[in-house]
Amino acid sequence: MSSDMFSLTDSTAIITGGSRGIGEAIAIAFGRAGATVIPVARSKNQLEDTVSKIESIDGTGAYFQVDVTEQSAVETLFNDVQAEFGTIDILVNNAGINPYFGSSENLDIATMEDILAVNLTGAFHCSREFGQHIFNVDETGVILNVASVGGLRGMPYQTAYSASKHGLIGMTKSLAVEWAPDIRVNALAPGYVDTQLTKPIQENESIYSTIIDQIPVDRFADPDEIAPAAVYLCSDAGRYITGEVHVVDGGIAAN
Ligand code: NDP
Repeated sequence: MSSDMFSLTDSTAIITGGSRGIGEAIAIAFGRAGATVIPVARSKNQLEDTVSKIESIDGTGAYFQVDVTEQSAVETLFNDVQAEFGTIDILVNNAGINPYFGSSENLDIATMEDILAVNLTGAFHCSREFGQHIFNVDETGVILNVASVGGLRGMPYQTAYSASKHGLIGMTKSLAVEWAPDIRVNALAPGYVDTQLTKPIQENESIYSTIIDQIPVDRFADPDEIAPAAVYLCSDAGRYITGEVHVVDGGIAAN
């Protein structure tokens, strides 16, 4: 098997939430694999930082400041990226939030809606634009949705988050069937990863130790341990894979 199968040369990839954590690790790995990388997020400073890191490994990157919950901003994003870089080959729907860890009877509806707006509807806004783009330019493309093991099993005290990720996996499978063979659509399901999103969990000793007990490899992942699977699924190496949920969780789902 040639290592060229994992190359992303001549591809342009939009990565939402590409400014830190898992999205940044994917952005850097894609840059290293030869893609032109477009990280997307709301805060400019972290986006600038990610592009500097991509350039420091001789990659090519340009950031766009967009909130994925705003449909018109997402439309503009795809128009602008196409105008500047031509065909967009890969979309990674990675932007996500998990602001509430607590009892479901006290989960307020506004929080529930915020979580679904970013994790599920935001991913659909981008997928819809990407689908229209690929069919307009008459090319093929790849979507990778960053879901979670929480999209495959119940997560007590994180009902809204778990529901959003179950929804994202449903969207992955539906689009994979509908858009085959033109667009491959897969999901990545990380377990617990050491990022800003999991800081509150890591700082709460009793929650942290309960979670560690569920992870056979006995630790959180580093974002760099998630990114290689994204390269695999989006490159030619994954060309026969669609509608799949690829778990990278240190054994949680097997436990
Ligand atoms: P981080 O909080 O570190 O990063 C989240 C990223 O999403 C940031 O770039 C953030 O930038 C961006 N983002 C958030 N809201 C929006 C929005 N409305 N529009 C555009 N960008 C947005 O999280 P992680 O790296 O941990 O998580 C990345 C993905 O991986 C998420 O989907 C998460 O659910 C998933 N995941 C994470 C796991 C973990 O243990 N960390 C485990 C399983 C899945 P900004 O705030 O500037 O917009």
